Order: sequence, then structure tokens, then C-alpha cells
Amino acid sequence: MAPFTSPLAEELAPDLLDRFQRYVRVDTQSRRDGNGSSPSTPGQLDLSRMLVDELRAAGLEDAELDDNGYVMATLPGTVEGDAPVVGLIAHVDTSPDAPGKGVEPIVHRDYDGGPIELPRNDTVLDPAAMPELAGKEGHDIVTSSGDTLLGADDKAGVAEIMAAVAHLAAHPEVPRPTLRIGFTPDEEIGQGASRFDVARFGARCAYTLDGSTIGELQDETFTGAEAVVTIHGVEVHPGFATGKLVNPIRLAGRVLAALPAELTPERTSGREGFIHPYEFSGTAGTATIRAIVRDFDDERLAEHVAVLRRLAEEVVATEPRAVLEVAVREQYPNMRRFLDERPEVTAAAEEAIRREGLEPRRVPIRGGTDGSRLSEMGLPTPNLFTGGHEYHSVREWASVQEMAAAAAVVVRLAGVWAERWDGAAPRPS
Ligand SMILES: [Zn+2]
Repeated sequence: MAPFTSPLAEELAPDLLDRFQRYVRVDTQSRRDGNGSSPSTPGQLDLSRMLVDELRAAGLEDAELDDNGYVMATLPGTVEGDAPVVGLIAHVDTSPDAPGKGVEPIVHRDYDGGPIELPRNDTVLDPAAMPELAGKEGHDIVTSSGDTLLGADDKAGVAEIMAAVAHLAAHPEVPRPTLRIGFTPDEEIGQGASRFDVARFGARCAYTLDGSTIGELQDETFTGAEAVVTIHGVEVHPGFATGKLVNPIRLAGRVLAALPAELTPERTSGREGFIHPYEFSGTAGTATIRAIVRDFDDERLAEHVAVLRRLAEEVVATEPRAVLEVAVREQYPNMRRFLDERPEVTAAAEEAIRREGLEPRRVPIRGGTDGSRLSEMGLPTPNLFTGGHEYHSVREWASVQEMAAAAAVVVRLAGVWAERWDGAAPRPS
């Protein structure tokens, strides 16, 4: 059996696993065509109501669910004075990209290191093809039954916060600042932060538990933009089209073919950005290319957008009767620029991870999180690991030992902030 990272983690594990198995059974899949309602699906409210009840049972009496499906609650601090209020955030929804209904979790105790065969759909978790699973001998591995996602993204984060908060509530002798808990809907469809009331949350900073590999601390995300390229042609009956018809689909195809071959998600890594056309539609009259554009550096992002725009202009300029429209909108900003202004926020997380006996790993996220938008909205919010892996797939899995380590890091994080305020370290600005 794999050792826990600490006696605290081992103590938290049974409650954590119990909660996790309960939460993943609730179908909270969000949907992209939710018609603007928040949350996008009613199942998310089932879990949110369960969390309100459990928060109240743990002693967080003000726990409530608002009209948009956000849960907020307060665990009052135990240190004297005006210690900062620290937020803990996770999302209740699961990805629309794999089946999320009827999740039946399986706990594979004391994993033997070989392929894990799941009972449904011949789904196999093979460590030979999944480097993160290799080396987890002795861990208790939680999976789905093979025909759904597990939902560790982000119910691992929800369960870790709940277990840590219940532990802190039961141990008022452990120093802690006032903690604000926030469970958000619709993160997977990019709306988790949209209706998050930062003022009502009232925290000085927050941490999302929505990462993956143990020890990871993420304070940097892509800046994301979406570009929509629309080409209007001239539609004429093809039998009478000689010299008249302008086919926008052919023009759009030339735009796509002209994009830089190296600037793709599959050919870039680390800190490199890309242009990724992800949807194409066209008729004889109009063609539309939708592309996401990503980079860690805002100037380089602007260059990628400019390349896309210039290529579209050059292609469409070869046909004077065609009309081009290019619409670009920012989706989320790199959180780094906001967190750099508040270095104590990331530093406290690093200290908490070290106190759990782990080496913090700062890894830029090739994507966005709720924390990207929240940081922009004035709530600096880096992201912590959860111990879940292979997100958005039927092969999703989580290690009980790693989830327990994440919950323990949350308890230690409360201690770090409380101590700082007691004068043990420089007072955060
Ligand atoms: Zn997530």
C-alpha cells in the first residue's frame, strides 16, 4: 500500500473518498447549448443542494445556493485581528465531451501496477500508454465503470475542499483565517466565473482545486482568443454560373491551407502558442471558420491573430467580389500578470505544498481555468492539483492518496495564512 504523504492526509482520506463517491454519482454534466440559463443543466443544482446541506452539517451555517447556481459559505477564522479572508473554489459540473450520466465509481485498492480492465465497453487503463498511471503501485485508484467519465474534474476538488473544511471546522484549535468556500457551475463550458459575485464572495485571494498531478501549482494560463472568419461569396445557379459565381467554401479552404503548418496544438508544447481552427461551416453563399488562438505572451497572441487576418485578407483579395469579415474576441487572460502583482498568494500555496512534504511544481496550463477570469475580476486565484487524471474521457482516474494530499494541502494553506497574520512571517500586503 502506498504511503500517504502525511498522517493528516491519511486521516482525511476516508471522509474524502466517501464524499467523492457520493458526488460523482450525481449527473452534473454541463451543456454548451444551455440557452444562457445558469446553471446550464438542472443536475448541477442537485449536487449544489447536497453541498449546501453538507456544509451546514459541518457547521458552516450561512451556506447558500444563489439563483445562478453558485454555492457560497463561510468558515469563520480562529486567529485574532483582521486576517485576510481566503477563498477555496471548485466547479461542480463535468465535461460535455464524454458520457456523464450513471457514473458508478470503482475503487481499485492497492493497485498492482498492471492494466486496469473496467467492466463496461472493454475500457482498459494501460500504464504503458498512460505515463501518469505508471508508478502508482500501491495506490487506491478510483475509476468509472468504463462507459462514463469519472468526474474527478472537478469533484476531486470539491471533495478535497469539503473534507478539509469539515476537518478544520471540527478542529477550532488549529489556526486558520476566515475561509470562504465557492462551488461554481458551468466551468467546462467556459462560464464558471461569468456570474461569480467577487464582491459578495469577499475574499482577498482564492485557490481553485482544479489541477491534476500531485505537487502542481499553476499560476499561469494561456491567454485565449476566438477568431471567426466569415467569407461571403456570390451564389448563382451552377448551370448559369459562368463568370459570375464566387464560391466562399473554396476561398475558405485556401485560407485554411495557408495557415502556418507549425502553429498547431499537435506541433507545439510548453510555452508555444497556436492557431486552432475547430469548426467550419459553409454554403454556396457564405463560409465560416471558427478558430481558437492561444499564447502565454499577449504580444505573440496578437501576432498569431494578425497572421490569420492577413492570410484571410490575401486570399479573399484575389476575388474582388468576395467579402471578408474577421471578428476577434478575448476569451480569458493569462492569470500570471495579475498574480505577479500579489506574489504572497502563490508563495503561500508553495509553502503549504512543502509542508505536506512535496516539492511544488509550477507548470503553465495550456488552457484556461476559472482562476484566469477571477484573477482578472480582482480575485487573484492560482490553481492547485487534485490528483485526478485523464480528464474528459472514460479512462479518467484519481488516486485516493493524491486526493488526500490535496486536501491536506488545503488544511496547511489555512495554517500558512493564519501564521503570517500572527506575525510569524511578513504581513502580506
Ligand atoms: Zn476542471
